[in-house]
Amino acid sequence: MTLTKKPSASPAPASWGLAAGGKVPWEYAAAPETTDHITIRREYGLFIGNEFTPSRPKATFEVINPATEEPLTRVAKASRADVNRAVATARRAYSTTWSRLPGTERAKYLYRIARIMQERSREFAVVETMNSGKPIKESRDVDVPLAAAHFFYYAGWADKLDYAFPGRQPRPLGVAAQVIPWNFPLLMLAWKIAPALACGNTVILKPASTTPLSAYLFADVVRQAELPPGVVNIITGPGEIGMELVKHPDVNKVAFTGSTAVGKMIGRALAGSRKKLTLELGGKAANIVFDDAPLDQAIEGIINGIYFNQGEVCCAGSRLFVQESVYEPLLDKLKARLGTLRVGDPLDKNTDVGAINSAGQLAKVQELVQSGIEEGAEIFQPDCELPTRGYFFRPTLFTGVSQSHRIAQEEIFGPVLSVLTFRTPEEAVEKANNTPYGLSAGVWTEKGSLIFKMIAAMRAGVVWANTFNRFDPTSPFGGYKESGYGREGGLHGLAAYLDLSPAGSNGR
Ligand code: NDP
Repeated sequence: MTLTKKPSASPAPASWGLAAGGKVPWEYAAAPETTDHITIRREYGLFIGNEFTPSRPKATFEVINPATEEPLTRVAKASRADVNRAVATARRAYSTTWSRLPGTERAKYLYRIARIMQERSREFAVVETMNSGKPIKESRDVDVPLAAAHFFYYAGWADKLDYAFPGRQPRPLGVAAQVIPWNFPLLMLAWKIAPALACGNTVILKPASTTPLSAYLFADVVRQAELPPGVVNIITGPGEIGMELVKHPDVNKVAFTGSTAVGKMIGRALAGSRKKLTLELGGKAANIVFDDAPLDQAIEGIINGIYFNQGEVCCAGSRLFVQESVYEPLLDKLKARLGTLRVGDPLDKNTDVGAINSAGQLAKVQELVQSGIEEGAEIFQPDCELPTRGYFFRPTLFTGVSQSHRIAQEEIFGPVLSVLTFRTPEEAVEKANNTPYGLSAGVWTEKGSLIFKMIAAMRAGVVWANTFNRFDPTSPFGGYKESGYGREGGLHGLAAYLDLSPAGSNGR
């Protein structure tokens, strides 16, 4: 596969000592990752009871590479009967094997999965990049290592649950239904499956329809690790199948990551049931830069905050608030840095911004950017060449943004930054909290006291200080308001998969 890419005409940063507007004097040679070490089958069945089986009645749908628009494979389209089959298989595995195993034994399986994922990390990284459009350097250095780290971390807890929750009698919930999105397909799988299994639950996972491939590669790992059949089941199909799954009467726990609209539908559908529910939904994070912040460091944090994974990140720093006194120098540096981002072939190790995940998502980004222009904001895009095929979008920033603009209110889920200003910390807090979401935020300042003041005042589940988009399995992650409820990661992530009734009681 080749993507045509003209030499970049990016202006060099002023710090390089070139004349104003000077062009970067050199260009990276293409460094594409090879794909000959991976095997993508022509067709994938549903993964139920450690077997790949066709859906009943047999139906499939196509999966493409968003960077080339070429088909990659076809996967089974599950029916309601398949959902019943998967839930029954997971229930059987729960009752007969998994919930009866001591924690030390469950831990061994999880460690084994983590190690196999590490051994096969190159394969995972390439498949993830080909299917999602994210740059290989991100799937290789972030998604895959973090996914393995979640299995290692939760393996460590599997035999220590009694110590994790003193005074409680931790018991697994039963069968967990997990529906995940397309922006971090493998990582979201790990966030969901690792704690569920550590606690003694069995799972049925439904990946997003555009990105099922790393989940089916993970199914191979499940077999390689000789996990008992039925402990992990993976089914693919449209959103309605996700709804059938979460509503199934024999499901005890539901974990969903995706849009706020679907999260609300699931919340309504499950109201009144005894299912335990966690929802990790959208975001519109504020990234706040005070005038004493180290500007060059902040620039890297801003870039990482919004252009990492093409901005298709629920906690992306999509609203930048800059203290007025440093607005102009910061904006100059930011525009110069934008000009150095390399957009193109996600398999090229030099690529910073890859392909948007689908034509539908690209259309959504384009529509919101158009609304920004029409509502009077000023657009800036670097002069970079886009590949002729695939769903690409230039890294974009808007100035002159008002709080009421759609680009300041709605989750764009693309490489688009809205820049706003403030004068005082109080004004920054008020503007940062002026959103229906509350997932994440960032603060850049040298003053520790100001960091604490801001963290206490902002309604966001995660606040990063002098960094952005840092993830760790030990750290809980989740939102307020329309960003959902419940936490994943750390001890909190375990609690979501356990009945934590007091010791001596009969449980839920
Ligand atoms: P969705 O919320 O529709 O998709 C997320 C997952 O839910 C997918 O597995 C999807 O399946 C499934 N799903 C879809 N409809 C239902 C339903 N009725 N019941 C149960 N499961 C369902 O997100 P989109 O892909 O439509 O993206 C739309 C917008 O949502 C994005 O532009 C972005 O703003 C936001 N988003 C936020 C994410 C986050 O992490 N916070 C992640 C993804 C999107 P299928 O793929 O088959 O449709």
